[in-house]
Amino acid sequence: MNELGRLIAHRIALTGPIAVSDFMSEALGHPRLGYYRRAAPLGAAGDFITAPEISQMFGELLGAWLAERWQAMESPDLVRLVELGPGRGSLMADALRATQAVPGFHAALDLHFVEINRGLRAAQQAALPTFKPTWHERLETVPAGPTLLIANEFFDALPVRQFEKTGRGWAERMVGVSDDGKALIFALAPGVTPFSSLLPDAKEGAQAELCEAGCALAAAIGARVRQHGGWALIIDYGYNRGHGASLQAVRSHRGAGILDHPGETDLSAHVDFSSLAASAGARTFGPVGQGEFLRRLGILQRADALKARATSEQRLTIDRALQRLIAADQMGTLFRVLAVGDDTSAAPTGFSDAL
Ligand code: SAH
Repeated sequence: MNELGRLIAHRIALTGPIAVSDFMSEALGHPRLGYYRRAAPLGAAGDFITAPEISQMFGELLGAWLAERWQAMESPDLVRLVELGPGRGSLMADALRATQAVPGFHAALDLHFVEINRGLRAAQQAALPTFKPTWHERLETVPAGPTLLIANEFFDALPVRQFEKTGRGWAERMVGVSDDGKALIFALAPGVTPFSSLLPDAKEGAQAELCEAGCALAAAIGARVRQHGGWALIIDYGYNRGHGASLQAVRSHRGAGILDHPGETDLSAHVDFSSLAASAGARTFGPVGQGEFLRRLGILQRADALKARATSEQRLTIDRALQRLIAADQMGTLFRVLAVGDDTSAAPTGFSDAL
C-alpha cells in the first residue's frame, strides 16, 4: 500500500469500513496526497485528455454560447464568469479569444475559477495572461450576482456512493481492509441502506450509484441562477437516467484497480444527468449529446473556416479532432450537455426544449 492507502486503512481500523464516496474523496482530494492535489493529471503525459485539449474549436464555440447568453440576459454591466475545474485553462482561453469582438462582453466579466490543484492554477493564469481570475476551493465563496458558469469534466470527479441489490434489499458497497491488513477491499454493508428510497426498483444483483456532492452542487448552481439570473452549462460523460456501477480508475490512459494506488490513479464516475436536473430546482435544458450540441453551435462551419487557412497536414489534424469531438462512437453521444437557466428563459442555442 502507498502512503495514502495506509492512512485510509488506519482510518478504517479505527472507525470501520467507509463508503466508496469517502474513499473517492480521500483518493482525489486528500490535502497532500490526493490525485487532484498533485502534479498535472491532464494531457498526453497525464492520465486523460479532455475536449478543450483536443481542439480550440470546443472553447471557441462555448465562448460564443456564453456571450450570446450574456446578451440574452440583456448584457448586464457585471457578470460572474465561473469555471469549475478549468484544467489547463484552455477552454477559457479559447472562449475569451473568440469573444474579444463582442461589444462590452469582456468589460463586464468578473472571472472566478473553482480549482483545488495549485499547479493547474498556475497553468490557468499562464493561459490567460491578460485576465485576473480569482481562485476558489468551492463554489460557495464565489460572490453572488448574475452568473455564467461552465463545468467540463468536473462532475465526473465528484464522489459517488455505490449500492447492490441483495435478497434483503439495497445494500451499500463499502471499503474495508483485508484480514492480513495488507490491502483495501470492497465489501457489502450487512444491513439495508437508508438510501433505499432514492434507488430504483431492480432485480437482485443490480448495482446503482448516487452522487450527493453532484446533486448538492447542481442545487447551488440552480439557486444562484434563479436568484441573480444567469446560465450554467454542464458537460460530461454519463447517462440521461440512473445507471449501474460506473466508477472507474484510469492510470496513464489505461484502466486500473479502483482501490490500488489511491491518489496516484484518476477515479471518475458517469454523471447521472436526470438527478442533476432534478436537484437544480431551476429550468434545465437537455441533456443533448455533445456531437449534436456542437453541430448546432456550428462546429462544422468553424472547422471549414480553420481548414481554409491551414496546411494539408493541419487540415487532417482538424478533421481528426472534429471527429473525436462529435462522432457517435467517440465523444459525440457518451458526452452530454445540460443547461441550467433562470425561470423565464427560452431554450438557448443548442437545445430544442426543456426537460
Ligand atoms: N475542465 C478541464 C479539466 C477537467 S479535469 C478540461 O476540460 O480540460 C477536472 C478539473 O477539476 C481539474 O482542473 C481538477 O484539478 C479540478 N478538480 C477536481 N476535483 C475538484 C474539486 N473537488 N474542487 C475543485 N476542483 C476540482
